[in-house]
Amino acid sequence: MRKTFAIIGLGRFGGSVCRTLIESDQEVLAIDNDEDRVNEYMNIATHAVVANAQDEITLRSLGLRNFDHVIIAIGEDIQASILVTLMAKEMGVPRITAKAQNEYHARVLEKIGADVVVHPERDMGIRLAHKLTSKNILDF
Ligand code: ATP
Repeated sequence: MRKTFAIIGLGRFGGSVCRTLIESDQEVLAIDNDEDRVNEYMNIATHAVVANAQDEITLRSLGLRNFDHVIIAIGEDIQASILVTLMAKEMGVPRITAKAQNEYHARVLEKIGADVVVHPERDMGIRLAHKLTSKNILDF
C-alpha cells in the first residue's frame, strides 16, 4: 500500500531513505534548509522543499501532521533534531523515526516520543558483526 513520508534532512542517511522509498513507489516529501541539497532531490522525491524545519509555522504549513510517517534525519545539529522531533510528536504525526548522533541523543529522542530511533553507524556495525559471525557467510 502507498504511504506518505516526509523526510527532514537530506544528508547521506535521509537521502538514501528518500531514494529507496521512491524506488518502492512511496510518496515522499523531502525537506532541507540547504537549497543545493533540495535541488538534488527535486527530480527524485515526489516533492522537495527548502525549509527550516525548526520553524513550527513552516512545519504546520507543510501539513506535516498529515503524513503517515516522518523521518527526522538531521544529525549534527542535535538541538534541531530534538526540537523537530518534539514538534512532530506534538502535531500528532502517527509514526516518527529519528536519527541519533550518539547514545545520549538517542535516549532523549526515545523519551520525547520517537517511535524508532536509528543510529546508522552503530546499527550497521552490529549488523556487520552479526553477518560476519553467522553460519551462512555465503550471504555476505
Ligand atoms: P548524514 O550522515 O546523513 O550525511 P549528518 O549526520 O552529517 O548526515 P547533517 O549534515 O547535520 O547530518 O544533517 C543532514 C541534513 O539535514 C543536511 O542536509 C542539513 O542541511 C539538514 N538540516 C540540518 N538542520 C536542518 C533544519 N533545521 N531544517 C532542515 N534541514 C536541516
